[in-house]
Formats: sequence, structure tokens, C-alpha cells
Amino acid sequence: MKTVIGKVEVGSASVDTIKQAAEIIKKGGLVAFPTETVYGLGANALDEAAAGKIYFAKGRPADNPLIVHVNNDFDLERIVQNVPAGARALMDAFWPGALTLVMKSRAGVFSYGHLDTVAIRVPNHIVAKLLIHHSGVPIAAPSANTSGRPSPTSAQHVMDDLGGKIDMILDGGACKHGLESTVIDFSEGNAKILRSGAITLEMIENAIGRVGAPTQNDTNAPKSPGMKYKHYSPKAKVTLVKGEPEAASTKILELLNATNTSNPVIIAPSGDKKLYGNAPFIGLGRRMEEIAANLYAVLRQCDENGHDEIFAQGVAEEGIGTAIMDRLYKAATK
Ligand code: AMP
Ligand code: MG
Repeated sequence: MKTVIGKVEVGSASVDTIKQAAEIIKKGGLVAFPTETVYGLGANALDEAAAGKIYFAKGRPADNPLIVHVNNDFDLERIVQNVPAGARALMDAFWPGALTLVMKSRAGVFSYGHLDTVAIRVPNHIVAKLLIHHSGVPIAAPSANTSGRPSPTSAQHVMDDLGGKIDMILDGGACKHGLESTVIDFSEGNAKILRSGAITLEMIENAIGRVGAPTQNDTNAPKSPGMKYKHYSPKAKVTLVKGEPEAASTKILELLNATNTSNPVIIAPSGDKKLYGNAPFIGLGRRMEEIAANLYAVLRQCDENGHDEIFAQGVAEEGIGTAIMDRLYKAATK
């Protein structure tokens, strides 16, 4: 299959490109599109065969469910049994935005993922909104990467993973947040956080009060199958070192000295480069938001440079740092 890239800048010419992509969605094809979190790989969520193609293109395990993307004007009652009050409060506060809500689905609407729940998000990116609008259907879209790899934050990342396997990529430039949406589960009554993201736990608890953490049982079995798979992994072996920058850098330099891999590299906040002398180093950025936005591109860059081992310096687990560390922990798990 030939994958077409359609460059989109906001303007009339771009709307034609997006309409072309919408036609592909309507016909049951696959279109990768930019969102404010990462690039998504979209298909008509109501067409089981189309959604099935997503699993095939990504090599995604069949029990890992898809997030359904709609616009704010979508009547949720069409796909969920009811909207809990807490979920409604979060929608009012954060939609459109980097927040996914899991609710009980209406019987028979979705069969993939084999769950009686559905995860829904209203993205805040003009290209995503227009694509949903012109397609006229909810769009199922996981991240547009090969399963297990770091999520794509540019059209080129999507092309590298899925070129030749999907119909079209809408190129809207780099993603603003660079990390996947925060996922909150309302399907069992009380709100539970299943995945951290750019909308932080602090922001969510400010809006609806205390939110629970997933139990061990959730991670092993049905609740969020996504949690049990390898994620965000570059080809290189990743070792994550936590702690204050001085202590972490001392430890990393020790590990670097002792390793027998041939092309190791350190990744850390750019401001800490001075702690590493002449050791091979890639800066992740200065502010936490910048580090989040650059993380996946840097992990992919390490692969391209042929690095076989990555020593990652951890960041403080607060605000968006929690989501950055979650992704680094998972990248470091093989
Ligand atoms: P991604 O593939 O990066 O878009 O991630 C989608 C993730 O959303 C999955 O891996 C799950 O963790 C979560 N998810 C999607 N649908 C559901 C659902 N029905 N119940 C719980 N979690 C879900
Ligand atoms: Mg993903």
C-alpha cells in the first residue's frame, strides 16, 4: 500500500486535504492524524472491520482497547449507558483536551477490546476536530506507532513505523504535549486513574476531589489491558536512575564506566549537561513541558544514532513529571 502524506496548515487548501482523509475514514480506511498529545491512527469506530485494521497495522494485541475520539457536539448517550456526575465535571473542565474517560458502553456498540466499557476523548487540535467533523463518525485511534515503540510526535515518526501499512498521514507538525492523554476510569463508580498524562492528577483532584489508583488486579486483568503490555520502548536497553541531579549523575557516570555496551548515551534535562563532562549526552529540554514534548523524539533519535544503551536521569514525580516518569519506568521495563 502507498501511504500518502497530506501537509496541513490551517487554511482552505488544508480543509480539502482533511476532507480527502475523511473520505478514507468513511470508506473504512486508516488515517494517522495529529492531536495535542501524540499522533493517532484513526478508523471509523463504528465499523468493526475498519477498527480491526488498526490492530493489524500496529501489531497491537487484540485485547488492548482503543480510545474513541469525538467532538464536543457528539451525543455520548449513543455509546455510553450513562455519564456519571464526576465524568461530566471533568468534561466541563478539560474537554476538548488531553483527558480520556472510561465509562460503561451500551451493549453491542463496540466489540473490539472485548470490554463492556469504552474510553472516550475530545481532542483539542484543529486537524483532529475537522477530521472527526468531516468523517461524521466517532474515530477510534490509538497512538500511531508500531505496538511497543515510543508514540509518534511527528508525521515522520508515523511514516517510519507505519509507512506502506496505512492509507494516509495528515502532517500537522509536532505535537504540543508529546505524551498520551490522562485516562480516568468511571466504569465502576469511583474515579480511578489508569494512565497519567498532561492533565495532571492535581488538576483532576482540584475538579472532583480524591481519585483512586488502580489495584494490582486491574494491572493483571480486565480493567485496562493496555497497562500490561511493553510500552514506549526504544531498541536500546534503558536504565532509569532516580534522585537529585547531583546524586543521579554520579550514579549514571559510575554505570557508564562499568558498562560493556559499545554505544551508550545519557539522556537528562538539558540544564544538567554540566554534570556529565564529555560523556555522550542528549538533552531532553529545560522546562518539564518541554521535556515531555521531546521525550519520545529523543528515544527514537537514540535508535537512529545506533545507541545500544540509554541511561536516563529521572525527574521529580510531580505535575507532568509523574507522566514523564511513568513513561520512563515503562521504557526501562523489558
Ligand atoms: P493508546 O494505544 O496509546 O492510544 O492507549 C490506549 C489506552 O487507553 C489503552 O492502552 C488503555 O490503557 C486505555 N483504554 C482504552 N480503552 C479502555 C477501556 N475500555 N478501559 C480501560 N482502559 C482503556
Ligand atoms: Mg499507544
